[in-house]
Amino acid sequence: MSIQAPHNTLLIPGPIEFDDAVLQSMSHYAESHVAPGFVKVFGETITLTRKLFQSTNPAAQPFIISGSGTLGWDLVSANLVERGENALVLNTGYFGDSFGACLETYGANVDHLRAPIGDRPAFDEVEKALQSKPYKVITITHVDTSTGVLNDIKRVAEITRRVSPNTLVVVDGVCSVGSEEIDFDKWDLDAVVTASQKAIGCPPGLSIVMVSGRALEVAKSRKTPAASYYASIEKWLPIMQNYENHKPSYFATPPTQLVHALHTTLSQITARPMSERFAMHTQASDKVKAAVAELGLKQLAPNREAQAHGMTAMYLPEGLTPPDVLPGLLKRGVIFAAGLHKEIATKYIRFGHMGVSISQADRKDIDNALTALKEALAEAKQAKGL
Ligand SMILES: *Cc1c(COP(=O)(O)O)cnc(C)c1O
Repeated sequence: MSIQAPHNTLLIPGPIEFDDAVLQSMSHYAESHVAPGFVKVFGETITLTRKLFQSTNPAAQPFIISGSGTLGWDLVSANLVERGENALVLNTGYFGDSFGACLETYGANVDHLRAPIGDRPAFDEVEKALQSKPYKVITITHVDTSTGVLNDIKRVAEITRRVSPNTLVVVDGVCSVGSEEIDFDKWDLDAVVTASQKAIGCPPGLSIVMVSGRALEVAKSRKTPAASYYASIEKWLPIMQNYENHKPSYFATPPTQLVHALHTTLSQITARPMSERFAMHTQASDKVKAAVAELGLKQLAPNREAQAHGMTAMYLPEGLTPPDVLPGLLKRGVIFAAGLHKEIATKYIRFGHMGVSISQADRKDIDNALTALKEALAEAKQAKGL
C-alpha cells in the first residue's frame, strides 16, 4: 500500500509519479545546510549524479542548484558563451526556441537549424552548419518534450568534434536524463542540463547540470565576467567541490529537503546498471507505441530512431482536440498532457512513461493508461459522431 493519498496517475512528460521513499525523504526535520549530516548527504548526491551520467572523469563536475530545468539554460548561456559569439541550436520544437531565446538574452548570436515537426536535423545538415562559421556552442535537445523527438547526441557530438573541435557540445537533457542512454565521458559531451522532476522522479525544484573539464576551462578563461550573479559557474564550482569533499560551504542556501529526495531517487536509480534502466524504458516505450499504432493513432515522430523512449506524442483522430479526450482520461484516473508545439498544439496529446510508472510493474500505470486511452477515444468519437 502506498503512503500517498489516492490520486489520479500523473503520466505527463514531467513531473512524474513518485516512489514513496522519495516523498518520505522530503519530510526530513529541520537541519542546517552546513551541518555535517546534510553536508554528507549533499556530497553523496553530487557523487551519485556522476553515476547517473556514467561519468568517472574527475575533471567533469555536476552542479545541483535550487531552480527548475530552465536555470540550466542560464548557467550555460551566462558562462560558456560571451556576448557576440555564435551558438547553433538544433531545433526540434518548443524547447529549442526557448534555449535559443535564453542564449540571446546573454548576447549570443543564435542560429536555429530546424527540422520539420516530428523530425530532427539530418547529420549532413549539422555538419554543413558547423562548417559555415565558428560556433562557440552547439545545443541539442535530447528529447524534445513538445514533439517526442529523440536526437542522436552521440552522433552529433562525434560530428562536432571532427568538424569543429572547439565547439562545446551542450545537451538539453531535461526530459531524457534517466530514461535515455547518456555516456557523458565516452560521448565527449560538454554540458548536459537536466531537472529533478522528469525521468529522475524527484519533486520539481532542482536544476542539475553536468559540465566537462573543457567547458569549466572555457568558463574560467572568459574575457568578460559571466552576466549572472546566481547562475555563475565561478560562484558554484567551489561550493560543489567542497560539498563533495564533505566540507561545508555557502553561496546560496540549498533546498535541503529536496536534496534528500534527490539522494533517495539517485540511490535507487544507480543501484542497478544504467543500461538496465534504459532497456526498461525502451521496452515500455515499444509497448506503448505498438498500442498507440493499434488504436490507429500516428506519432508526431514517424521514424523509429527519432522516437523518445520516455514519452509518446500522438496525433488525435481528425476532428478531435485535446479537450475532447483529456477529460475522458481523467475520469478514468489518468492524466496526459495536451499538445505544446504551437503550430499543432490542438491536434495532439502527450503520454509520459518514465520512472516508477514503468519500473514498478505492480502499479499497472501503463496498462491502465492504455485502456483509459482506448475508452476515452471511443467515447469522444461517439460524442462527436465520428
Ligand atoms: C521541461 C523541460 C525544460 C524546462 O524545465 P523546467 O523544469 O520546466 O524549467 C527544458 N527542456 C526540456 C527538454 C524540457 O522537457
